[in-house]
Formats: sequence, structure tokens, C-alpha cells
Amino acid sequence: MPNTYWIIFSQNKLCIFQHQDQYHLPDSIEEFDLQEYTENAVLLHQDDKHVIQLLDLQHAALETVDNEHQHRLVTLREVLLGSINLDFQHIARAWQYAQFLRTHQYCGQCGASTRQVQWEMACQCDVCQHRTYPRVSPCIIVAIHNGKQILLAQGNRHTQTQMYSTLAGFVESGESLEQAVHREVAEEVGVKLKNIQYFGSQPWPFPHSLMMGFTAEYAGGDIVVDGKEILHADWFDPEALPHIPPSISIARDLIDYTCEQLIQKS
Ligand SMILES: [Zn+2]
Repeated sequence: MPNTYWIIFSQNKLCIFQHQDQYHLPDSIEEFDLQEYTENAVLLHQDDKHVIQLLDLQHAALETVDNEHQHRLVTLREVLLGSINLDFQHIARAWQYAQFLRTHQYCGQCGASTRQVQWEMACQCDVCQHRTYPRVSPCIIVAIHNGKQILLAQGNRHTQTQMYSTLAGFVESGESLEQAVHREVAEEVGVKLKNIQYFGSQPWPFPHSLMMGFTAEYAGGDIVVDGKEILHADWFDPEALPHIPPSISIARDLIDYTCEQLIQKS
């Protein structure tokens, strides 16, 4: 028998039960007062091991029937940093699907109400036949090295934590991934690149990105930060890194991989 998990969002947070450092998703909704919402439940996934149901209460509060099992509401970022009894990817997907359903209740072409398609993740307008799918926004993320050191930058969102990371940015319409790598790096830190190599990818639900990772070699130019998105950037020895992102992120995988390569070569 597959295990059932309920992914319940309430007030933009995820409902969990916590036992020490472990998070658990509810395996039923009996302990909640959810009768008026159950028809909004969406079967998100089903295989031999898991049945995953999504219930998005949007701004409504989540009420328990009794006080015996007290749930908590946590942000997706908290879930990412803790451990949970379900792959984070399922939760990320649920979050993106919930966002999609909220923002596609009406047709973008003719304004009529849409309906949810049962057999694929889509909303259909039966008036003009326009069909929409959840948005995925491709982003490039790149680790740059010069043979000895890695280039890391501090973004304007990370001044408090003093965190340094790889460079990243959204792919623009009509642009190849490689062009996006060259453009973002030129805009943010002003250097030129060569030998761009694909590394791997990671879906990132903040809000609906697909991070596509690359490594690249420095090909010239001095570091000149844009002063808006990037406040400071520098070359770092692999043995003397600043504060870097946690290991759940592709940014960290890229940094670890690049530094390993640099240490092996030296
Ligand atoms: Zn329409």
C-alpha cells in the first residue's frame, strides 16, 4: 500500500508536524476542520510508494479539530533547511502548482473562467480554447575559475549574512543558455569567459525557477561589479572560502565541485 501525504498550504506556509528535528507531513486530513475545502484537493502524484494530495487554503487559517496533535505552519525555506519525510521536490512542485492554480482562474486571452485539466497540469478556457501551463523560468548559474581561484560574489540580498555565491540570472526571451551566461557575467562582474560546460540543474521554487548550472573559465577583464545586484566580488582560494550557501543548493554543489578540481590541479 502506498503512503498518503497531504501537502496543505495555509497563509503561504506548509502544514507540518514536528518531532525533534524531523518534519512530518500529515497522512490524513481528519484532524483538521477542512470539510468546506475538500473538493479543492488535487491529486498531485501517485505511484507504488506515494499518494500525494495538495490542498491550498490560500489565505484561510488552518484549524485543528482537537488540540492533541498540534501542527505548525512553516515556510518553504524552513522545510528546505530541515528534514522532511518526503522529497523536497514534491513539496516544491506542489507549491508551484498551487501558485499556478491561484493565478490562472481566468483566461489570459478572453477573461472567461478556466477549469483545471484532470490529466495534465494545465488550466483550460472552454470559451476560446486557450490552455495555460505552470510557468517555469530558466535561470543560469555559473561557477567561474581562473585555474587557481574561484570567483564568488555577494548579492544585494546577502549583505547581512555576508554570504558569497556563484553568479546567477534569468534567461531572457530569445537567448541561448550560453548567451545568458556570457551576458549575466558581463553585466554583474564585467569579466569574459571561455569553456562553458554544463554541470546540472535544480528546480527552485522561489517562485518557479529552473536553475541550470555551468562551470566556466575566466578569459579576461577586471572585476567591476554592477553595484545593484552584486555589491562585491573577488577571487578566492579554494582553501579559504568566505561564508557560502548551504549544501542543498546547486550553488553549493558548483562551488564544491570547482574547488575540488582546483585543489586536485594544484
Ligand atoms: Zn479564453
